[in-house]
Amino acid sequence: MTWMISNPELTQQELLNAESLFALGNGYIGVRGNFEEGYGDAMSTIRGTYLNAFHDVIEIPYGEKLFAFPDTQQKLVNNIDAQTIMIYLGDEQVPFRLDQGTITAYERRLHMDKGFSERVVQWKSPGGKEVRFVFRRLVSFRHRELFAIHVRIEPVNYNGPVTIVSTLNGKVKNYTNPKDPRVGAGHAERMTVVDTGVKDSYGWVVDETMSSRLRASCVTSHRLDTEADVRLDASPEQGLITYTAAFTLTEAVSLTKYNVYTDSMRHGDHITDTGAELQEGLAGLSFDDLVAEQTKYLNDYWKSADVIIRNDDKLQEGIRFNLFQLLQSAGRDKHSNIAAKGLSGEGYEGHYFWDTEIYMFPVFLMTQPDIARQLLLYRYSTLEQARDRAREMGHKKGALFPWRTIAGTECSSFFPSGTAQYHISADIAYSYIQYYLAEQDQDFLLKYGAEVLIETARLWAEIGHYYGGAFHIDEVTGPDEYTCCVNNNYYTNVMAKHNLKWAAKSVSILKAFNEAAAAELLQRLGVTEEEVSAWEKAAAAMLLPYDETLGINPQDDTFLRKAVWDFENTPKENYPLLLHYHPLTIYRYQVCKQADTVLAHFLLEDEQDLETIRRSYDYYEGITTHDSSLSSCIFSIMASKIGNMDKAYDYFIETARLDLDNTHGNTKDGLHMANMGGTWMSIVYGFAGMRLKESGLSLSPAIPKDWEQYAFRLTFRGRLINVRIKNDGVMLELVEGDAIEVKLYEETVVLEAGKPIERQLAAALSGK
Ligand code: BGC
Repeated sequence: MTWMISNPELTQQELLNAESLFALGNGYIGVRGNFEEGYGDAMSTIRGTYLNAFHDVIEIPYGEKLFAFPDTQQKLVNNIDAQTIMIYLGDEQVPFRLDQGTITAYERRLHMDKGFSERVVQWKSPGGKEVRFVFRRLVSFRHRELFAIHVRIEPVNYNGPVTIVSTLNGKVKNYTNPKDPRVGAGHAERMTVVDTGVKDSYGWVVDETMSSRLRASCVTSHRLDTEADVRLDASPEQGLITYTAAFTLTEAVSLTKYNVYTDSMRHGDHITDTGAELQEGLAGLSFDDLVAEQTKYLNDYWKSADVIIRNDDKLQEGIRFNLFQLLQSAGRDKHSNIAAKGLSGEGYEGHYFWDTEIYMFPVFLMTQPDIARQLLLYRYSTLEQARDRAREMGHKKGALFPWRTIAGTECSSFFPSGTAQYHISADIAYSYIQYYLAEQDQDFLLKYGAEVLIETARLWAEIGHYYGGAFHIDEVTGPDEYTCCVNNNYYTNVMAKHNLKWAAKSVSILKAFNEAAAAELLQRLGVTEEEVSAWEKAAAAMLLPYDETLGINPQDDTFLRKAVWDFENTPKENYPLLLHYHPLTIYRYQVCKQADTVLAHFLLEDEQDLETIRRSYDYYEGITTHDSSLSSCIFSIMASKIGNMDKAYDYFIETARLDLDNTHGNTKDGLHMANMGGTWMSIVYGFAGMRLKESGLSLSPAIPKDWEQYAFRLTFRGRLINVRIKNDGVMLELVEGDAIEVKLYEETVVLEAGKPIERQLAAALSGK
């Protein structure tokens, strides 16, 4: 039951949301859950197919453009549409469509264990002909380039002629909404059709982006399991390939449509030939074969990633859905990463943010380290652009990673809550450090990690300065986008401190690992002993704001001096504030869009004592709107840390079904991927108190009072560990790999095959 999402709703709003919820992807291709037959003119739809990182470059229009504002941005383009299949019964004028005729039965499911979606519709045409359709579709995890659709038509009261018209459409547009800054405002049409053709049983369309001149091709083939009159036509002016099959329906008939996408970033110059070759490789595979492959792939995934929540199907469904969508969204090559909306919609224009490193990377790190590594390699591949950006921003040394990007250059035009979020460079460094702590892969540190740590540390050395003996970082924005351009943002400073410390530490780790290779790296980067000492000194002297009166870490130097936002007189409909108040109005008050200092207390908890963390939590909770979906999960994790399980649970509930229940009201624009990672984190870091530090892996589990049992698995240094928490005890078990030490509460335990460790659950939590 909980392996399936079902949604039988047919209202306009529900259908739009369902387009995101039923989106399918494999990290490369993403297809929204649009209906094959369309919706008719009366309904709106965001019909979308995306190839991760496949973008156009667009000029950013400015009223007033100042120095080093980016000239252009990248935008994920809506790609060639292979979704359309129209079905005509006999001489009926209108094809099968849900706004015509009568629906006698309808069901829609997403199978998260088998990786396909399914729609069953029993339909009576306006002329009374009744048939049953079963649409199934999948985006293959095994064949990166494949999106397949299977349609089965079963007669109910109708036996007679049927015509199927299936198309491949190169004339596509992006969705725009000028009223919502979280969606693209203009530039709808970014692709032109450069080629259409048919040969043997294949048809293809090639599109080119208008400015970046990237090409994408889709080669399509159809397999029908009955005798039919079949035609395959190309209409170059319309950018359309049309497959028409006419046959007589006497018993169930099935059509499989294989759509193979390739693009010039990944497949070189001959993308259509490559697509045709890939098609050949699919010749022996039926849709059921593809489902079988998909199921096998997902079995492996769930074996390491599944989280089980006993006796709460709604939450069980929520966490599985989120984990399934994360897997579908993560880019697995150096060109791509995880967009804020994954591959499920056009919100944030397909851009990658810090969301990856802080909210999603941890899930992959502890369940699918290969994907985690791939995410790091993507950032590494953009290091050169980050160096250039640092120069452009006036820094002599170092690398400044862009706030939002696809191809590696800055795409944010509103710098106060864009470029000014320098913390993204420390966040990226943090993810490299976490990877090292998890995998202890010195080779990776040598080849990639150290360089990123060094170049980001240099940024802090450049931007910071000494004042009154302390190291200050001025004029930056922390994670909270309702407070911009401030001095000594606690989050930024503490993350920069960690970054500086670890840059120095990585130098000594590498010297011990491979002296010659380390020397070569340091020489290539021009790192001197003095520079390393300067990082250490800056880290030690880093100012971490502290307020004696309140006993908390203020968010920045002036935060506590501001007036508190008038929450009492702010009507509900004025949230999110960003859609109802000028930014300056918001900046003038103590009001947080999302976790900022509270997040810093999670990521680097040893920097403060528990009482400071607790008081800070209480303080910021009172002034945080959670207008960003990146907030509740962090408040949940930290509520667990301070021992308030009820609160931890309430915040967790907000994350677990955010998209399934459309609680932020914009699921139609795509899924909230960071929140999805946050759900897993709320359980694993929150309830179970997992931490990864230099001392190793530790757990400090608790259980929400309404739960009987929950369980999850961790992949750690080649081991697979099963963690099960019941309301009377915790059990750790080594499922795969050699014996390993982990910390459970204050005790160090050795996990060995066949020897599960069981302990009492700690009654109350205090300071993990
Ligand atoms: C949040 C950012 C986040 C971005 C993309 C914004 O609303 O404030 O922290 O990176 O969305 O998810």
